[in-house]
Amino acid sequence: MKIYSKKELSNHELSLTYDDISLVPCEVSRIGSRKETSTSVEFLGRKMSVPIISSPMDSVTGVEMAEALDDMGCIGIVNRFDSSLNQVNNHHPKISAVSISLNHDENEIEKLAERGYIICIDTANANNKTVLNKCESIKNKHNVKVIVGNVANGNTLNDLVNAGVDAVRIGIGGGSVCTTSIQTGIGIGQASSLLDLFFAREEKNFKIELIADGGVKSPGDVAKAMALGADAVMLGRMLAGTREAPGEVIKYNDQLWKKYRGSASFGVKMKNEFIEGEETMIPYKGPVKAVIDSISDGLKSTMSYMNCFDLKELKEKNSFAILSHSSFLERQPRK
Ligand code: IMP
Repeated sequence: MKIYSKKELSNHELSLTYDDISLVPCEVSRIGSRKETSTSVEFLGRKMSVPIISSPMDSVTGVEMAEALDDMGCIGIVNRFDSSLNQVNNHHPKISAVSISLNHDENEIEKLAERGYIICIDTANANNKTVLNKCESIKNKHNVKVIVGNVANGNTLNDLVNAGVDAVRIGIGGGSVCTTSIQTGIGIGQASSLLDLFFAREEKNFKIELIADGGVKSPGDVAKAMALGADAVMLGRMLAGTREAPGEVIKYNDQLWKKYRGSASFGVKMKNEFIEGEETMIPYKGPVKAVIDSISDGLKSTMSYMNCFDLKELKEKNSFAILSHSSFLERQPRK
């Protein structure tokens, strides 16, 4: 079996995603216990205990989710549709980030910037003049960190950096309730997108930070995203259905559920145009802490296998395999 470096994976002839690859532990690990490893990172000048950011979707991040994630050293980006955003304007010490739309009120943006929140311009396509102009104007007026999204390759990284973007969401078509690829024919594998951005940044020595966004199904996928060069990982479905996610718990067929829906789904837009997202029900998961703990435990175990004390070391590893379909299936637990 060939062991691939990140560069080789990036140059692979096909687009790859998390399920197509595996990390390969090929060193004697000096890690005595998982407790010796650290999952903390620096992201946009802040220390995060676990590099997880919740997606600014109306069924994922409201104020309660943002508070809970802040308590665990993660970041929640409060969705721009949230009626509790008024609380945010009145200053909320546990909220790190807030999403805005392209036509967001200028005075509101000023308030958000004054409160020191990270601002996320929440659009489907960051490779768009209006989005980049908006970012540039915010960066010129305010001392604030700005996240934009989404992109799927590194060709335009220069333009994003020139517009003052501090971090970019990477991923088009990979979200679990995303129908973009079906509707538009656009959408490539998350691993390939991430690597393309990683090497585009490396080539020009840019400072912009990379957020792997969409398609993350498990702690193992988080580990792969970090090893492929992400600075943080954005989650929708993995955090949806938790106690802190906005929305009611619904009892149906003797099971508890919560709704999860795409930002471009019918339920959000309430009109039948440009629908690029689905709505679904997720089994109720209880407190979000259990999800974050499982990711943190998974990352620690990955680091122990891969001979890394921290996620910086994990990012330097260059041993990946491309899985055949049968080896992918073999890795799934059987009943
Ligand atoms: P998940 O973690 O796989 O569920 O993906 C979450 C990501 O899907 C979000 O952070 C967005 O980037 C993306 N997304 C959210 N809503 C939509 C939509 O309606 N259409 C397409 N992509 C979406």
